[in-house]
Amino acid sequence: MVLESRIVDNVKQRLREIPQCVVRKRHGTAYITRGDADLYGSLRGRHFEIEVKRPGKQPTPLQFARLEEWRASGAIAGWATNVAGALAVLECAE
Ligand SMILES: [Mg+2]
Repeated sequence: MVLESRIVDNVKQRLREIPQCVVRKRHGTAYITRGDADLYGSLRGRHFEIEVKRPGKQPTPLQFARLEEWRASGAIAGWATNVAGALAVLECAE
């Protein structure tokens, strides 16, 4: 079984290779807003949020609501279960 943390690391590593892309992992502490995505960053000045799930899983209603909140503000926001999916969220070809 693939751990979500492994997928998050893979996505993070891949996004780091994209020029003008900064990516950060949001660590789960008491200080974060519940439901905000695993990864966030900026691609050529555009803020993005990516929720990572294990294959066969999907975001919780709260996670969907948070993604929608970011999207409504103008950010890129989506979810993925693998690297290709995350690139699709950012509209970056593999
Ligand atoms: Mg997640």
